[in-house]
Amino acid sequence: MLRISNIKIDIDEDLSLVRKKVCKKLNINDNEIIEYSIYKESIDARKKDKITLVYTVDVRLKNEKKYLKSKKTDIVFISTNKYEDVSAGNEILKNRPLVVGAGPAGLFAALLLAQRGYKPILIERGEDVDTRANDIENFWNNAVLKSNSNVQFGEGGAGTFSDGKLTTRLKDIRSEKVLREFVNFGAPEEIIYSHKPHIGTDILKNVIKSLREEIIRCGGDVRFGACMTGIEIVNGRVVSIEVNNSERIESDSIILAIGHSARDTYRTLNQNGVFMEQKPFAMGARIEHPQNMINKVQYGIFSNHKKLGAADYKLTAHTENGRSVYSFCMCPGGTVIASASCEGMLVTNGMSEHARDKENANSGLLVNIETSDFGSEHPLAGVEFQEKYERLAFEVGGRNYNAPCQLVGDFVDGVKSEKIGTVKPSYKPGVTMTDLSLCLPDFVVDAMREAIQLLDKKLIGFGMRDAVLTGVETRSSAPVRIKRNLDTLQSINVENLFPCGEGAGYAGGIVTAAVDGIKCAEKIIQKYSSLE
Ligand code: FAD
Repeated sequence: MLRISNIKIDIDEDLSLVRKKVCKKLNINDNEIIEYSIYKESIDARKKDKITLVYTVDVRLKNEKKYLKSKKTDIVFISTNKYEDVSAGNEILKNRPLVVGAGPAGLFAALLLAQRGYKPILIERGEDVDTRANDIENFWNNAVLKSNSNVQFGEGGAGTFSDGKLTTRLKDIRSEKVLREFVNFGAPEEIIYSHKPHIGTDILKNVIKSLREEIIRCGGDVRFGACMTGIEIVNGRVVSIEVNNSERIESDSIILAIGHSARDTYRTLNQNGVFMEQKPFAMGARIEHPQNMINKVQYGIFSNHKKLGAADYKLTAHTENGRSVYSFCMCPGGTVIASASCEGMLVTNGMSEHARDKENANSGLLVNIETSDFGSEHPLAGVEFQEKYERLAFEVGGRNYNAPCQLVGDFVDGVKSEKIGTVKPSYKPGVTMTDLSLCLPDFVVDAMREAIQLLDKKLIGFGMRDAVLTGVETRSSAPVRIKRNLDTLQSINVENLFPCGEGAGYAGGIVTAAVDGIKCAEKIIQKYSSLE
């Protein structure tokens, strides 16, 4: 199969021209193509008066050997562009494999195990996605937080109420399976090749339901309201877990895909001697600008072109105090959301729906936090660091889940904001205009102040005085790594326990977490024969 890159068309030209250009580049007739698919689409918007779409295409030809000696770097041979199943092992599986957590990591681990006949049991502390959606609405509208059913916990995991961005730098063929399964279960086809694949919360919720139904159809069990509260380790090997402080489930293969917010579970694992270590993460606040302004800066005269949609940005700066500041999980046409999972603590994040048609663009503006900032050697010191600033934000916001908020101009000047300007903050249940330095570490505030001014030179308007900052954003990634053996993917000191996904420190996003779930499931498949 050949992968042809660098096929360009103008923004107003038809997609069918790409195939014609591929034929021209390969000097073939269209009927010589046996298989054709777009692998990637990207946008070149460097020249604001001429925006170009750039494609990479995979083709299988009747006769492709003649290209073997091609010196062109934009025509290369690839062995496959599809995920292939791993072979099953021979050992007898005594108990059904257990997957803890129904985020992308756990769902994809359970899906693969179910598809291959291993009948997994998937337990999730939160509720099914519909019940969860109601609980979250109630939190956003009435400030009633459910500790096991919120933006972090429940079917679909942390990414369900998100932008559903599926971008990843991962060059792992398993991501092809992840995207294809998303399409099989209802996501739009273009996520397979789009330059910035994106599903949106509205569609993602239904995709997750279909994924669950497939796990059950293939013989798996999915249990909600089932929290792993204990773990039994005998002679360095996990033998069972405790659910909801009462039930015991035996298993000789446990995939632990608990996400980065399961602080109680981290503590239980730590008390039971599962090896974990500190890990750097990032902290800051959400920044909101008018989406129209971002569109104009990024796309110039094409800013409302139907092929482009709401524009995004990705920015980084290095500040004098030695910190890196960067935009994180940018949500074009989206909203800033209340993402707390613990009583008396406040956390922000961002999400959008498929249309990305809300008034504001938002993004995390985050500063790197090193383990040396934690102030203790304890493996869970990073969790305590997060908790400290989440509690402060709750206090500063008014103890009612209103978020502390400040105009960008006031933040840079170091003065408290008194009222909202032209940009209306989207966070619900509401915001309290204040001074964000009351609930962020000094070095984070210093770095953000300097970075806003530096970034304004890269994206004109980024430092807009009326833009708003809503904080705090603390859950960018796990502050802990549950260390695993790089070959077996099992915990380095507990056999048959597979720390997996973002919570274990091995993923950072929907696709990477899902890929990690597949990797862990493959290890179980390669060792055992299926139950069928
Ligand atoms: P999680 O998704 O966190 O799932 C872990 C699951 O385990 C949860 O459902 C939890 O309830 C469950 N659990 C925890 N403890 C237990 C226990 N003891 N027993 C049983 N169940 C348990 N990433 C992107 O790539 N694109 C985006 O646009 C994007 N936007 C985001 C927006 C928001 C608001 C948030 C919060 C995150 C966003 N992310 C995004 C990050 C992404 O969601 C995570 O990287 C991803 O969900 C991690 O997957 P995971 O399966 O490892 O963990």
